[in-house]
Amino acid sequence: MSEAERVHAAQGLFAETAQGPRLLGSKCRTCSTPYFPRSESCHNPDCSQSDLEDAAFGPHGKLWSCAIQNYPPPPPVVYDEPFAPYAVGLVDMPEGLRVLGRILTDDPQAVEVGGEVELVIEPLATSGESAQQLVSWQFKPR
Ligand SMILES: [Zn+2]
Repeated sequence: MSEAERVHAAQGLFAETAQGPRLLGSKCRTCSTPYFPRSESCHNPDCSQSDLEDAAFGPHGKLWSCAIQNYPPPPPVVYDEPFAPYAVGLVDMPEGLRVLGRILTDDPQAVEVGGEVELVIEPLATSGESAQQLVSWQFKPR
């Protein structure tokens, strides 16, 4: 069996760089406010001049909140059959972002709020016959 081609679930949101996985966003040169996903303008009301540049974030974060997804998500989200509940978390990143992402773990009930997590780019589903493997950003407990 040949290895499935890794296809990004969304374009322009994340990258697998030489330094590891990163989220792709923006940062204001004037006030340093970070944005994910990319923003065309700065939304900080105290900012004197919107001046955005591309920025990459990750891979470290801390789990701020977490919930268990107990029912299959609607398309286009993919998941393994039969459906198994998985954890979705809000992660605080040291760059000043709070980012939503699936938590990559075999035991969603054991995920601890406050725990350190690491950004990974992994398949959303690992089963199926497809020659393509849909990958996205996720957070893995450390
Ligand atoms: Zn700004």
